[in-house]
Amino acid sequence: MVTRPSSEVLTAIAENLDLQMQVSVRARTIVPRLYAAARARQGDQPLTLLFAQQLLSRVQPGDVVLINTGWIVPGFDYWGESDGPVGAAVLARALALGLQARPLILVEPSIVPMLERVCWAAGVVPLSEPQLRAHSQAVNRAAGVSAFPIEPLAADREASRLMDELQPSAVLAIEKNGPSRGGRPHMLRGYDRSSFTAKADRVFGEARRRGVPTLAIGDLGNELGMGLLEDVVHELLPASRTCRCPCGSGRCHAG
Ligand SMILES: [Zn+2]
Repeated sequence: MVTRPSSEVLTAIAENLDLQMQVSVRARTIVPRLYAAARARQGDQPLTLLFAQQLLSRVQPGDVVLINTGWIVPGFDYWGESDGPVGAAVLARALALGLQARPLILVEPSIVPMLERVCWAAGVVPLSEPQLRAHSQAVNRAAGVSAFPIEPLAADREASRLMDELQPSAVLAIEKNGPSRGGRPHMLRGYDRSSFTAKADRVFGEARRRGVPTLAIGDLGNELGMGLLEDVVHELLPASRTCRCPCGSGRCHAG
């Protein structure tokens, strides 16, 4: 018989996870401030608990969950940043083993091989999308890894196709650049990242139009999902109101 922990114990576990989530190895003081604002705006409960409850209430065995990640830095095109992919693989593992879901990780084309290796390291077998769809969720220790387009129109088409064909029950993003009000994703230093960023905001937009929940993780303000805190980011990082490209719409994700 499986004994479920009490809500008091679950809350205590989540509070501890939230504390760990706020640790910045680079001692960025903005992280706990963003955390406090995000928590206050979402019912003042541990955010890890809220995240888990949202997934538990929506995701059924066999469901597809899309996970957007990948942050390419010019000059490191075949590797990109490491924090998003590692988190995405761990999330995929939890979804596959815990909920018997079919996670599909979406990244820039050049870092698909990197994500596949990260999945192996996390104990998740990386599959193609057709393999994931054919796979038995009953013994699932696998996640799909697919390229998502950088070109906006192709991204629109692929977002619609994924939503039509896979009918995901949730769409997630972890450390994924989101566009500011002018429609372009920016580096924190203000430079336009449009030409090398997969347009995951199209997947989020399509999900919202269809009433599919979107959940996102970020740590500075230019990541998908941080639009919830746009005003807070502007207050904490005044430079984020402007950018260094012709759009002039700032560095923070909006929406
Ligand atoms: Zn700009």
